[in-house]
Amino acid sequence: MEDIFIVDEQQRAILKSVARFVESEVIPRAAKLDADPDPEQSFSWEIVEKAHEVGIRTMTLSEKWGGAGADSLTTAMVIEELAKGDLGVSVIIAQTLKIAQIMQKALNAGQQARILPAFAKDPRGVLAIGITEPDNASNYFLPHPTPFRTGARKTGGGWVVNGMKHFISNGNRASHYLVFVQTEPGRPMAEGSTCFLVERGRPGFTIGRVHDKMGERLANNAELVFRDCFIPDENVVGTAGNGFNVLAEFFPQSNAYAGASVLGVAGALHRKAIDWARLRIQGGRPLIEHDGIRAQLAEMRMLMDAARSYIHRACWLADHQEHGWDRTLGALPKAMAAQAAWKIATWTMEIHGGHGYMKELGVEKLVRDAAAFLHSDGVNRTLFLKAANFMF
Ligand SMILES: Cc1cc2nc3c(=O)[nH]c(=O)nc-3n(C[C@H](O)[C@H](O)[C@H](O)COP(=O)(O)OP(=O)(O)OC[C@H]3O[C@@H](n4cnc5c(N)ncnc54)[C@H](O)[C@@H]3O)c2cc1C
Repeated sequence: MEDIFIVDEQQRAILKSVARFVESEVIPRAAKLDADPDPEQSFSWEIVEKAHEVGIRTMTLSEKWGGAGADSLTTAMVIEELAKGDLGVSVIIAQTLKIAQIMQKALNAGQQARILPAFAKDPRGVLAIGITEPDNASNYFLPHPTPFRTGARKTGGGWVVNGMKHFISNGNRASHYLVFVQTEPGRPMAEGSTCFLVERGRPGFTIGRVHDKMGERLANNAELVFRDCFIPDENVVGTAGNGFNVLAEFFPQSNAYAGASVLGVAGALHRKAIDWARLRIQGGRPLIEHDGIRAQLAEMRMLMDAARSYIHRACWLADHQEHGWDRTLGALPKAMAAQAAWKIATWTMEIHGGHGYMKELGVEKLVRDAAAFLHSDGVNRTLFLKAANFMF
């Protein structure tokens, strides 16, 4: 927290309370949960319930719905602070905070009244968004003229959905989902898909496999399976056929939040690199007194500071678009943070020598975690292409 540029005292108080939560509830549990070979056992409801108790889980809900009405910049700071304790915990909460923000903009008044009070009260209320399919992944980031495979046919009073999504963060844990489904067969996904609000337990909607992941293990990712699942018209978000725009219109800061998560991992790695460089003596003095190591620690700091500034600018401008929002800010900050984190991960492992490769110091967990956002929220290369398409 010491290196974050904080603009007001309320932010400082929020971040202090998040740092306390990370210290007391996340760090003591993270290594053991991460080491469990069963991905479902790596998830902790206890941590989610504690996050609820201190108000983190609902902080992006407006006061009207029982939250704190946090802005996007403060939310990104919180997401980064959580990820210094554990990336998976940060992702569980980041998904929930961001989807709650989308819901307050994209759901109509009736839908909000139906969903948000129950979500606010439920200590286990987490949220998920289902876009990616086995055949359509980067296709969503670089709108390709294929339709989504998950499709719906119109019937009296609603839609019958068939198909599946995979890799979905919080997929097996969420109480509510936003799911993107092809409602106009044969049209490109960008023109013929609809966003549906789906409640957990709806007949015909089940959870498939829970993915066994290399890192970010405290968060679960799962398949969402739809077999003749009836979804009523009242669960259409926005209008039918306009699903593709729900995220673009209502949530430009999604990319920056993902960047904040992986930046927290970079911060945890940097701290370990500094601590080890102070402790380890080679060549007759601590590593930190060797110029090559000192310079690399400063370069890591530069990469993190630059990525954070980019993320913060994207978040602030997403909330104040009239001051110069441009659409590349919805694609590039995560790519920068993920590249920075990956460099910092490999450098930190190198500074630790063989000790970095052994599990006992916890560096290898952070290296596995740092890899997650090379792919999550869009593979970096596709995000560069997406930004180029905005530019040219
Ligand atoms: C930890 C994690 C969490 C996730 N959470 C969610 C979630 O909550 N909800 C959700 O919907 N999805 C989620 N995803 C899915 C994620 O968005 C996809 O993994 C991502 O979009 C990439 O899809 P893919 O993995 O199938 O790769 P592919 O699309 O198969 O891409 C493979 C490679 O080909 C390249 N490529 C693809 N298309 C092009 C092109 N046109 N030109 C040049 N190169 C190209 C890519 O850059 C990449 O290097 C998650 C993924 C992970 C790993």
